[in-house]
Amino acid sequence: MTVMNAEMTDTAAAPPNTPVWDDGGWAGLPRLRGDVTADVCVVGLGGSGLSAIGELRRLGASVVGVDAGTVAAGAAGRNGGFLLAGSSKFYHDAVAAYGRERALGIYRLTMAELDRIAAETPRAVRRVGSLRIAADAGEVEDCRAQLAAMTADGLKAEWYEGPEGAGFLVPTDAAFNPLHRCRILAARHAEAGARLFEHSPAVHIAAEEVRTPEGRVRCGRVIVAVDGRLERLLPALEGRVRTARLQMVATAPLPDIRFPRPVYMRYGYEWWQQLADGRIALGGFRDRGGDPQWTHDAEPCDAVQGMIDGFLRGTLGIHAPITHRWAASVSFTDDGLPVLAEVEPGVWACGGYSGTGNVIGAICGRAAAQMAVTGRSELAGVFGG
Ligand SMILES: Cc1cc2nc3c(=O)[nH]c(=O)nc-3n(C[C@H](O)[C@H](O)[C@H](O)COP(=O)(O)OP(=O)(O)OC[C@H]3O[C@@H](n4cnc5c(N)ncnc54)[C@H](O)[C@@H]3O)c2cc1C
Repeated sequence: MTVMNAEMTDTAAAPPNTPVWDDGGWAGLPRLRGDVTADVCVVGLGGSGLSAIGELRRLGASVVGVDAGTVAAGAAGRNGGFLLAGSSKFYHDAVAAYGRERALGIYRLTMAELDRIAAETPRAVRRVGSLRIAADAGEVEDCRAQLAAMTADGLKAEWYEGPEGAGFLVPTDAAFNPLHRCRILAARHAEAGARLFEHSPAVHIAAEEVRTPEGRVRCGRVIVAVDGRLERLLPALEGRVRTARLQMVATAPLPDIRFPRPVYMRYGYEWWQQLADGRIALGGFRDRGGDPQWTHDAEPCDAVQGMIDGFLRGTLGIHAPITHRWAASVSFTDDGLPVLAEVEPGVWACGGYSGTGNVIGAICGRAAAQMAVTGRSELAGVFGG
């Protein structure tokens, strides 16, 4: 990208398009060469695919997993690090769209998954809650409406006014290092016998066989756990999911902690958290980036990066140097519910998390694993059509 002003770019220390989560400490996994056999092949080693692999292991299935890049090379290792309960819609909107029983069912399922994620990888998770903050008076009313709907259904949330602004706090939500979590899970699964391969893109996918440029997985079933660009991998999903680019920056550490918990604002279009070392990780402005953000390109663009910078310097008043700029692809669905579907006999797809796949993606990965092995899943019901 071009230099937009001196304050924005003159201190960028990390290589281009590197997330703040990447501390370099990953030994890597081999490339798939030749033939291997497994009960199930998982395509995509992000948070969803790794959750699927954990569930497959629990069910006693043998697994081969392949990733086109490295573990969590996509959005799973490049996101905002929020672990929020609920669907991609705010709770009152979810009640209106899906009905109360279903909205509450999704919320409860995600709360339980959040507990499971925290217990499974405690070193990667900080259980600090989250804040939704209103950007203007209209959004204050919307926050009140959401809080009222949540408390009416017994969900934990409380009104908040503080240095970040006015809104509400959900004490049970969390922040995490998404890349660290995925690396912990991948190392654990590989040690337990799952055969995982990096730099091995699936170029042909069928239930009985997944081919990569140099290898082949002979299997009985396949789980495709890819969020952004899912419709490229599985053209049957064209029209059901649509890929977009989300972008972030991170700063050098601040000397003080100003944001003890992750914050999202303007209906979730902007979001930020302060990491334990004092850095700010901030993203947003997809909507204001307009149509060009509906793209399969996963490189940062000047227009959105400039708006993020303006928000960091102007609204948040933070002038620490920016050290990281990055982007990644996610996919959206029209109804805000994820895709969890058998796209052809023996080939399961999960994705389409509409920007919020850290928790729901883990559920969908596990649900796909259960369906691939047992033909049914107690997790899948609330997402069904
Ligand atoms: C900037 C940003 C901020 C976000 N913030 C949040 C947040 O705070 N909270 C939240 O819940 N969600 C957030 N999201 C969304 C969330 O990151 C994603 O929904 C989630 O991580 C998707 O994970 P996944 O494992 O399903 O898929 P992906 O991360 O898309 O992983 C797919 C993997 O598949 C691999 N792959 C792709 N094609 C192939 C192929 N042909 N063969 C083999 N492998 C392939 C990729 O290399 C990748 O590693 C954010 C996303 C972005 C981009």
